[in-house]
Amino acid sequence: MASEAELPLLPLGAAADAASEPAQPFSAQDDEWLRSLSEELLTVVSVIAEAGGGVWLVGGCIREHLLGREAHDFDLATTLVPEVLLEIFPRALPTGVNFGTVTVRLEGSQEQFEVTTLRSEGSYGDGRRPDAVTFGDSLSEDLLRRDFTINAIAADLARRLFYDPHGGATDLEQNILRAVGVAEERLGEDGLRLLRAYRFMDQGQAGLWKPDKELSAALISAQSMLENVSAERIWSEFRRILNGQHAAAVLQRMAADGLLNQLLPVELNASSHRIVAQGRLSVSADEAEMAAVRLTLLLAQSAVEEIEPALRKLKVPRRLIQLVFALKQRQTVLPQSNDAAALRLYRVALGNHLQLQLALEIALQGKSGSALEVMQALEESAPNRAVVEPLVDGNRLAELTGLKPGKRLGRLKAWLHFLQISEDLPDTEAVEARLTEIEWSESDPLSWPTVFWPPSPDN
Ligand code: ATP
Ligand code: MG
Repeated sequence: MASEAELPLLPLGAAADAASEPAQPFSAQDDEWLRSLSEELLTVVSVIAEAGGGVWLVGGCIREHLLGREAHDFDLATTLVPEVLLEIFPRALPTGVNFGTVTVRLEGSQEQFEVTTLRSEGSYGDGRRPDAVTFGDSLSEDLLRRDFTINAIAADLARRLFYDPHGGATDLEQNILRAVGVAEERLGEDGLRLLRAYRFMDQGQAGLWKPDKELSAALISAQSMLENVSAERIWSEFRRILNGQHAAAVLQRMAADGLLNQLLPVELNASSHRIVAQGRLSVSADEAEMAAVRLTLLLAQSAVEEIEPALRKLKVPRRLIQLVFALKQRQTVLPQSNDAAALRLYRVALGNHLQLQLALEIALQGKSGSALEVMQALEESAPNRAVVEPLVDGNRLAELTGLKPGKRLGRLKAWLHFLQISEDLPDTEAVEARLTEIEWSESDPLSWPTVFWPPSPDN
């Protein structure tokens, strides 16, 4: 649609209400950004405008653009009501119609846009969510209901104008997090904003931002409002906090403010070992793994029986709880760094959790501990001579021993695997040869070693 030099020509939708003025025109940089927007997004904007609606990009995508970063999703605000949006976009999904949100998708495209009808003031009964959403047609009223000034900027792409009634752009420049309106009231209306505030303090490469004085005070005085927020909503923000570049500092502030104690059943203050250790965590991990390691660190001194109900209550996904458990179960049990057999068993038993576990141990111990030595020893140790999977399978073992399928055969296979790894046997022949040297016909199979960490007492 747009060539390098040309700007996309977009139909003018309904204009913003008079109360939204004054607006700021796009700069050359903003025009550059406009040219970079996807065909799909411009189509959605055009279709709404042609149907007579007002349409603005709002929230995260504007914030990210003004920070010079790429947005990962685009939220739009419009004067059109959900029923009309569903009509003009046949593939749209009514994902949150009661709150005015429709997810718009176009024919033949994977892209999705959250399009939300402008809201005017509804009541907030219990700090959970607006009780009733009243649709409005005033952009300024809609922006007034948003959480932070940096999230309350709107852009009209066709007119090439920004609406920024709360000074969000200035706050972005000064790296300040400020509530729209009276901070304590705004956090009181929706307790999730407490957590969103901590999330937005972490601006990645752009640093760790400070809330202004009023918001800082409200983060403490309005804290009890979090009790009214559903676990699902809490987890969706907390997960992002745990994954932030400055997660350690944000968690420290949450602990100092007393909020972390509300999320997890552990006494944490800013100088707690588990908080300080967060700052030493260094590992490359995906989102779920990172969240799991940080949670494990926070819960490092808690009993396993306490952890499970706490994480379930937080609606942490099952897979992630299992990872926390796996890390927790092995926590502080390390091989000796000069014991090659133990190092090999550790490496194979942990598999793709090895780096996570070591990062956790190093964070807990600091520089002086043995975990760092173990990591170095592992880095220097040779790869296994054979594959890490068992070289002798159950059928072959049944053939060699005459054992029927059952516990004895299963455990014998595991024992041979243990020998294969701990002795670094080179091939199947070598593993099978060990069968003639161990006593497997009479002794109790449950006393035989396996590739498992931490090793069972009998290993
Ligand atoms: P990102 O999508 O990068 O996580 P975002 O700012 O777009 O950041 P969303 O959760 O997508 O965050 O919300 C979109 C916009 O909706 C926000 O920028 C903000 O203006 C508004 N918003 C979201 N949640 C709340 C809330 N709990 N209270 C008030 N406004 C909110
Ligand atoms: Mg968003």
